[in-house]
Amino acid sequence: MPNDGNPYCRVCGLLQPGLPWGEDDKTPSWDICDCCGSEFGYHDSTPTGVLRARNAWIAKGCPWFEESKRPPDWDMEEQLRHAQHL
Ligand SMILES: [Zn+2]
Repeated sequence: MPNDGNPYCRVCGLLQPGLPWGEDDKTPSWDICDCCGSEFGYHDSTPTGVLRARNAWIAKGCPWFEESKRPPDWDMEEQLRHAQHL
């Protein structure tokens, strides 16, 4: 699934400190998203997986995996605009 050097989490759209899928879009970092808790290379490797992870996260009320990283003025809808369009 091409990522076009996208620095955002495919599932929730959070800007990541590194490229979730590497420079070549084929080398997942296996990092965990601070927001939705997805593991890059696992939950986001297929469009179906992205949708499943996103829907599950939204169904839970969009909790932050690392609550301490959550910005006080966090705007979920703004962030989701950066998520993978499927
Ligand atoms: Zn995420």
